[in-house]
Amino acid sequence: MLQGKIEMKSINISIDVEPDLYGGKFEGITKGLDKFIGILNKYNIKATLFVTAEILDKYPKIFQNLKKQGYEIGLHGYKHERFDELDLKEKKELLKKSVKIYKNVLKENPKGFRAPQHSIDNETLTLLEDYNFKYDSSTIPWNFHHIFLPQIKIKFDYNFKKMKIHKMNNLYEIPITSFILPFSALTIRFLPFFIFKIYIRFVNLFKNKIFFMHSWDFIKLKKSRLYNRCPLKEFLKRFDYMLNYFNKNNEFKTIESMCLYD
Ligand SMILES: [Zn+2]
Repeated sequence: MLQGKIEMKSINISIDVEPDLYGGKFEGITKGLDKFIGILNKYNIKATLFVTAEILDKYPKIFQNLKKQGYEIGLHGYKHERFDELDLKEKKELLKKSVKIYKNVLKENPKGFRAPQHSIDNETLTLLEDYNFKYDSSTIPWNFHHIFLPQIKIKFDYNFKKMKIHKMNNLYEIPITSFILPFSALTIRFLPFFIFKIYIRFVNLFKNKIFFMHSWDFIKLKKSRLYNRCPLKEFLKRFDYMLNYFNKNNEFKTIESMCLYD
């Protein structure tokens, strides 16, 4: 039994909780999160939520309850601004304001950060250390999804070493798992189902895996071509299939517990 546990692979399900993709409303929070939690509860999974400070401020009870249930809550910027487009002063101000809201709502220091649209840079990493964050989970090495979605500016990184959890000074970098396509809701929707099944079997070769999705993946977004390729009902079915698959051969962890035990 103990032997099995030591060799067990692990996976984290993370969700970026932010304004809806089109129109900037909050249906992903008011309607989407319940669907997300409902599926996770079926497998008794505690996920990691990266929430914008604005949403934490607007819906404190939702996140206080999730924290009580054992979910991990990190920050995802203030209003979902790209950090690499801000100057140092703006970055400082936004982080200060966001950390203050986080502490007010959740009564502790935030430990994890994911930059909106993966827009992490060295200045922001240094500031995260100043604010005593424990980890950043913004990078997606070996990812080519901007070829299909050029509007999302993501830095290329071909360094194999950066695919693993690594430490930079006092901060851990927890890269989102990726190979050609990111291990994400986008890929669930983009690939034909039978190829997706092969993709997750390949991804399972990684010891620690970080999967990511968005609050608006759980609502209807009819303007999106990707949504129309795989509407909500089909998406929920595929997400459930994936959790069922990993539930057989992986331990589901929060990111913080992956940092501790890696
Ligand atoms: Zn985001």
